[in-house]
Amino acid sequence: MIVEFRKKRSKLQTISFLGLPFVLIGGWFYPLIGYLLLGCMMGAIGIAIYKGRAWCDWMCPRGSFYDLLIKKISRRKEIPQFFKKPIVRIGVVLILLSVLGSQVYIHWGDWNSIGLALVTILTVTTSVGIILGIIYQERIWCHICPMGTFGNYLSEGKYPLSIKDNCNNCRVCSKVCPMQLKPYSYKDTGIVADNDCIKCSTCVASCPKKALGFEIKKAA
Ligand code: SF4
Ligand code: SF4
Repeated sequence: MIVEFRKKRSKLQTISFLGLPFVLIGGWFYPLIGYLLLGCMMGAIGIAIYKGRAWCDWMCPRGSFYDLLIKKISRRKEIPQFFKKPIVRIGVVLILLSVLGSQVYIHWGDWNSIGLALVTILTVTTSVGIILGIIYQERIWCHICPMGTFGNYLSEGKYPLSIKDNCNNCRVCSKVCPMQLKPYSYKDTGIVADNDCIKCSTCVASCPKKALGFEIKKAA
């Protein structure tokens, strides 16, 4: 089951991944392509309202790129708590919004220059994500990505992952989780209440006890 699941997820990620080189490379020649970044931002926020951070699973081209390629060369270390601190996440949001806002203000009316600013921001942040992804873990950027942070705040209670009482604490779910979450630690409440869950279902497909799922209702 897990092999088939991984194949299906990889296929979807391969499709969405193509969006990254299209904008990242094409944008330097045709800056208006950079505006596609705004569509990506709206997609992440729009889906978060209904389904939590599901966008980050396979619909985000950059997340797919990290899973498909950077994972192969990552040292796969534990992500330092520093990158999960709200102050760090909010700081990254403020920095990038300030950079984007100032570029829009300076270049207002010059749509090519604004498009190029979007491509530049994508290039710099993706590069930072690659470096951190190799040093630590492939999805580390997803903990500080501004869209991920917005998604985190909008995800509360949306499409929650449930865990049943038959969980035997083997921790396989945590080992396979691309976000390094700990689903098993929520056995007492029955709901994995971590807003950074990207709803990828890797833990669901890997759990030997079939204790995890998005449809399971915990008995009252
Ligand atoms: S993989 Fe399944 S059984 Fe193992 S700790 Fe996670 S939820 Fe529990
Ligand atoms: S907890 Fe499960 S569904 Fe959520 S990100 Fe981790 S592996 Fe994916």
